[in-house]
Amino acid sequence: MTSTMTPAQLDRFRAKLLQERADAEGRFAEFGDVMSEVRAARSGASADDEHDPEGPTMTQEWSQRTAVLADARAELADIDHALARIDDGSYGFCSNCGKRITVPRLEARPTAELCIDCARNAR
Ligand SMILES: [Zn+2]
Repeated sequence: MTSTMTPAQLDRFRAKLLQERADAEGRFAEFGDVMSEVRAARSGASADDEHDPEGPTMTQEWSQRTAVLADARAELADIDHALARIDDGSYGFCSNCGKRITVPRLEARPTAELCIDCARNAR
């Protein structure tokens, strides 16, 4: 399958994806640091406070941060996948029905792999 997007358009999306990748990586690194702090605080707390080592506040905070980290990781995977699709020429086509994904949709969501109709049906 060959992309009908112009090389200039593809370059623009590639630049956009690389920018988003840098952002997601930054967030990932930032939360990675916070995670080790939380982990350190948690082991300290369990040593000091034996009746409630996994207090609700800590656990909640922990799972929120884990969720953010998982999101950032999933985003990175999506971005890498989209970049691979630019390289193999399938970028911009719906992975379900093969139709062109509209440029405005890709502008809004550069990692989109489904056209608007398939995305709607997938829900
Ligand atoms: Zn589709």
